Amino acid sequence: MTSSVVINDTTLRDGEQTAGVAFTVEEKLAIAAALAAAGVPEMEVGIPIMGPEEQEVIRAIADLRLPAKLMVWGRMLEPDLQTMASCGADIVNLSIPVSDLHLRHKVQRSRDWVLGQVTRCVSMARDLGCEVAVGGEDSSRADPDFLARVAETAARAGARRFRFADTLGVLDPFGTEARIRRLRAAVDLEIEIHSHNDLGLATANTLAAIRGGATHANTTVNGLGERAGNAPLEEVVMALRHLYGIEAGIDTQVFPAISALVARASGRPVAANKSIVGEAVFNHESGIHVDGLLKHRDTYQGFDPGEVGRRHRVVLGKHSGTKSVVQAYSDLGITLNGPEARALLGRIRDYAVATKRVPRAVELRRFYREANA
Ligand code: MN
Repeated sequence: MTSSVVINDTTLRDGEQTAGVAFTVEEKLAIAAALAAAGVPEMEVGIPIMGPEEQEVIRAIADLRLPAKLMVWGRMLEPDLQTMASCGADIVNLSIPVSDLHLRHKVQRSRDWVLGQVTRCVSMARDLGCEVAVGGEDSSRADPDFLARVAETAARAGARRFRFADTLGVLDPFGTEARIRRLRAAVDLEIEIHSHNDLGLATANTLAAIRGGATHANTTVNGLGERAGNAPLEEVVMALRHLYGIEAGIDTQVFPAISALVARASGRPVAANKSIVGEAVFNHESGIHVDGLLKHRDTYQGFDPGEVGRRHRVVLGKHSGTKSVVQAYSDLGITLNGPEARALLGRIRDYAVATKRVPRAVELRRFYREANA
């Protein structure tokens, strides 16, 4: 298995392609700068054929001279390529449908057309001085033999990378690994995995592709992206570290800040239980878990929240035990005896059920006053 993976974050392309999401120029620049500062080595930043405004933003990002490679996206068509070649990006991703379903129903073209187009456009891009990735749209549902032929054709024409796009998020990790292995055996190209989360498998499929020989992985902050989104940057980076011992070279401490930046700019708040960056994912309420954590951290933590700039937080609620109650009141300067703690626990449970909220200090003080009135 590989010892290195290159993250190519597409928050600024597939992320912004999410229905209803649009970034301002300032937001795109801020997100690009934050990703580069965190050590993200590559990012896909836009779609030049959209028009002059998009091209200007891409040029503005290029002008920041960030320590990251910039990729732009377009269809494998001459007009797209012409706009892509002149906006200061380091690599162009030329996308072409590769499944028979897309070829027949979307573009009414043949497999031979695909091979011809790859040869023609990749050569043209190389002549324009571009580094080229060939994006296989709907690779998941393409005939694997044909997909290998597309990748071989891309390699012969001078592409450096093939992007395997699970465009609709229809694969599982086993199928993903098998398909990437098939490609890996056919070509010497860089292989990039682009997964979608329609079945909640984007991160799992990204890891599986890496096991199969993928060298590059697309991610987005908070898993933003079309429909159910792409593989979240924070999940892929942490899973690579903790499951495979692979360091992607990214500062994981800044995940909360980058997550908040993208949540604001996209208008997509992060769910409380979103892994790694969700507000509540290091909260503990259950008496059994809190007791374990207090005895030894590793009993109820898989990784140290400090790695991602977070902390454990004990909250009081329906599943709390008296130890948590004693601790919470001690934090307020109030020492409880056993019967007091048990009585207050009952009060806290009633409150949690009635309000669906965690009691704050002001409420805890009120419960204490009422119990001692
Ligand atoms: Mn996509």
